[in-house]
Amino acid sequence: MDDCLFCKIATKQIPSAIVYEDDGILAFNDIAPQAPTHVLIIPKTHIESTSEIDQSNKGIAADIIAAASKIARDLNLEGHRLVFNSGEIAGQSVFHLHCHLLGGRAMKWPPG
Ligand code: 5GP
Ligand code: ZN
Repeated sequence: MDDCLFCKIATKQIPSAIVYEDDGILAFNDIAPQAPTHVLIIPKTHIESTSEIDQSNKGIAADIIAAASKIARDLNLEGHRLVFNSGEIAGQSVFHLHCHLLGGRAMKWPPG
């Protein structure tokens, strides 16, 4: 998508600190980290949010979680949190599906 920040990061028109990449997935450090480890995992194809995941494209969700788990293992995180914000009311600010991988500190539940 022409005017999408994360599409531009996926195609490397905009640089990012890449931590993992395969054919369909890119993972890079969040520019404003909320934890010692804060990685964003995105599909290279444009999908707005998890609200667009259905039977036809659910493999993307599995690929994202598998990539997140590999990154967490490689970083030897004791535990981690995966967050998908979907919709403005849930805190989504970039409308290209992304998974936040957060780790390296204790976290509280429920979130704000
Ligand atoms: P959301 O609020 O949509 O769930 O998360 C968007 C995330 O993207 C935020 O955590 C924000 O810090 C991050 N972000 C926004 N712009 C950029 C950017 O240009 N580069 C990187 N690496 N992260 C960004
Ligand atoms: Zn996009």
